[in-house]
Amino acid sequence: MDKQGFTTGIVHGDRIAGTEHGGVRQPIHTSVQYGFERVEDLIGVFQGTKKGGFNYARQGTPTTAALERKITQLEDGVGTICFGTGMAAITATFLTLLLAGDHLVSSKYVFGNTNSLFGTLKTLGVEVTTVDACDASQVKSAIRPNTRMLFVETIANPGTQIPDLQGIGEVCRERGFAYVVDNTITSPALFKPKAVGASLVINSLTKTVAGHGAALGGAVTDTGLLDWGGYPNIADDYRRSASKEQGLLQIRKKGLRDMGAALSSEQAHSIAMGAETLVLRVKQSSDNALALARFLEGHEAIGKVFYPGLKSHPQYEIAQALFKGASWLLSFELLNAERMIDVVNALKLPIKATGLADTRTLIIPVAPTIFFEAGADTRRAMGISDGLLRLSAGIEDIDDLIADFEQALKRAA
Ligand SMILES: *Cc1c(COP(=O)(O)O)cnc(C)c1O
Repeated sequence: MDKQGFTTGIVHGDRIAGTEHGGVRQPIHTSVQYGFERVEDLIGVFQGTKKGGFNYARQGTPTTAALERKITQLEDGVGTICFGTGMAAITATFLTLLLAGDHLVSSKYVFGNTNSLFGTLKTLGVEVTTVDACDASQVKSAIRPNTRMLFVETIANPGTQIPDLQGIGEVCRERGFAYVVDNTITSPALFKPKAVGASLVINSLTKTVAGHGAALGGAVTDTGLLDWGGYPNIADDYRRSASKEQGLLQIRKKGLRDMGAALSSEQAHSIAMGAETLVLRVKQSSDNALALARFLEGHEAIGKVFYPGLKSHPQYEIAQALFKGASWLLSFELLNAERMIDVVNALKLPIKATGLADTRTLIIPVAPTIFFEAGADTRRAMGISDGLLRLSAGIEDIDDLIADFEQALKRAA
């Protein structure tokens, strides 16, 4: 079939790939074991010579495989591995592609748990340097002879910083580094990191792709751009496969199979259902976020508003050039931080909850919650003030959201 539009591909993909009884979506395969008529086929699945077979659900099921195909299609990649959570996808990627003595350079503006994971990597002998990746020259000067990988997020949470995605991609291409881009906030509906040279793309499927806040999942997608034949850390066992397959093969065996953070078929199905409306949701929630950001920027009780769709945002031009929209994520400062509790409690629609990319708007004060453990010094270094609120815009009607903020902000004085 001719190359289709993005959403057409999502909603027809299962059917075209073939399902039993003409079902239009993949059924939920609950089997852990998979049996064969001929033992040669069982052996073939173990040895990888029988493609597309299953043997044990920790390494995948027909339902998780269908989701993997869908994510590959969305990211324009060559293959995907799904995990039980986004953190599992990130952990498996780092632990299988980095060895003790290697060096990882990361943006300093990353998801809190990813930052915490860097601490674990250090205890295992992996060196980690974090830099302000909005400036590619800082990334360049952090590079050492043992650097293997660069890691960034497309839009950071909660500050909405956008790294020099293109510039870092060029550095990685020249040097043969693995360029790992966490696309969770933008999702492939707004941006495909392959366009800036990413080698591997991470999505926490829990967030934008599922969108309903009713399933956990994560994915790592190989864009096909890095020649794994030239990447040092592939084990001999996996060197026997075609060079383009070696990276994901090692992540599937050493990460998914051995570490065991598998996605269940039930959750994969739930994520695939959410993914059908990905573009519609992201459009509505991004439109809402922009309208709210403009409203808040003009409000006397509010200080800075961090949203890449505003001209005041330092990376506004990059967002315009690379993304189809500035996403559903914004944060803003209440000028009088002492009024924060009252203002947030006065909001009727936004749910006071952590989590991101739900159909419902979510709000959370940043300093006393997600950045509490980080401590005051880290918060100051990351520009997180006591009055900072993070908002994940949902798909509600915008007039209702603005009216709600209007009444709640009366308590800010
Ligand atoms: C939530 C999140 C993760 C982790 O995903 P989980 O599915 O919650 O494990 C990773 N990266 C980013 C940017 C996130 O927002």
